[in-house]
Amino acid sequence: MSAQEQAGVGAGRRTESYPTCVRHDMHACYTSAIMHNHKTSRRAFLGGTAGTAAFAIQPASAQKPVPAPAKPGLALEDFEPKSMLVAPHHPTPQAKYPVIDVHTHVSSVFPKRRAAGSPEMAKAFGQIDAITGWMDTLNIRTTLNLTGGYGDLLNQNISDLQDRYKGRFFNCVEPAYDRIREPNFPQWQADEIARGKQAGAVGVKVLKTLGLYLRENVGTGALVKIDDARFDPMWDAAGQLNLPVFIHTSDPDAFFTAVDRFNERWEELGHHPDWSFYGKDFPPKAELLAARNRVIARHPKTKFVGLHVANHPENLDEVSTWLDDFPNLHVETAARLGELGRQPRRARAFFEKYQDRIMFGTDATPSEAGTPQQDLKPAMFQIYFRWLETLDEYFDYAPSSRPPQGRWRIYGIGLPDSILKKVYSGNAARLLGWGEG
Ligand SMILES: [Zn+2]
Repeated sequence: MSAQEQAGVGAGRRTESYPTCVRHDMHACYTSAIMHNHKTSRRAFLGGTAGTAAFAIQPASAQKPVPAPAKPGLALEDFEPKSMLVAPHHPTPQAKYPVIDVHTHVSSVFPKRRAAGSPEMAKAFGQIDAITGWMDTLNIRTTLNLTGGYGDLLNQNISDLQDRYKGRFFNCVEPAYDRIREPNFPQWQADEIARGKQAGAVGVKVLKTLGLYLRENVGTGALVKIDDARFDPMWDAAGQLNLPVFIHTSDPDAFFTAVDRFNERWEELGHHPDWSFYGKDFPPKAELLAARNRVIARHPKTKFVGLHVANHPENLDEVSTWLDDFPNLHVETAARLGELGRQPRRARAFFEKYQDRIMFGTDATPSEAGTPQQDLKPAMFQIYFRWLETLDEYFDYAPSSRPPQGRWRIYGIGLPDSILKKVYSGNAARLLGWGEG
């Protein structure tokens, strides 16, 4: 998920600070554990002190140095354990084969600067120039800017990215939810997709806004269901126009469960409390995914890309049944390296079985310092390359001093060249009608 994906209709605001209650709970939970340990160790410590007194009569040279006491009350957020494991390490500075990243938000460098005027736009272009420079070094041929917008905004993104940097960036068109109340919306939206294609869009992007935030009166009223019939002409149009639909539905399982000490992404939700959908006016995750799947089933001639491993990398068995049931479904890997990389044997089998339907994606967004797992910088991409190409063990899934999504590390799946080529670019090229990549 990215700032862009948070920015849909009624989407929650991003915050980098802990809410007071979560911060308090965090310290309360952890401090009580520390105190418990301290009580037991206190006896041992006192016993040790008595022993030390006995040693005091020995010559100074025989005395052992007293170890520094552990920092009392170490907060989880300050815990940065360094692995003592000695394991093979194969840095992967560039991808072995050319890459198409099907999930980025490069255009997020523009909006504030467009408003600010041309000198600021020159800075934005300078930033994109630098990005294309290291894309060459990393062997990233092309990226899709999914959040291209619609209408004038789409035209601007096509002009500023697609026309200016030929072959390096492409845009997708997004639905215009603010018109949903209009009686002619279904056909208008279908026609708008066609206009988007004519302008140069290569796909349709649907944010998680649909299902979670979009309501009958845009921001108020009943939630609009993902399989609402008003979108049927749009899904059909995408199929007829050969525009793949990149669809994000729901979010990680942990965002739909209680934010307590059992939640494996508790720290992340502390940093981003508005990412939790638990106990609020949101449908259950399973209901959202079922509605999305009904859309995919109802439009077999439309190609869908289930973003973030169809939003269920926690359960690759279930994603496998969807891929078996829906030949028009594809998936991509964005921002789910942490999930896939902690189950390397299952993930590798998944890649082998569905090698023609998995694409490389990262959710890369410029200057996303608060979400290092998708910060559009070389280090982030190089971790994906290492994970896909090597069998290295137990390494960070994001360039960060602390794992940002959960407290674990990942293991490479060492794909053979034949599968690597498909995942890096072949599958995306075929889906986008660019030949075999
Ligand atoms: Zn995204």
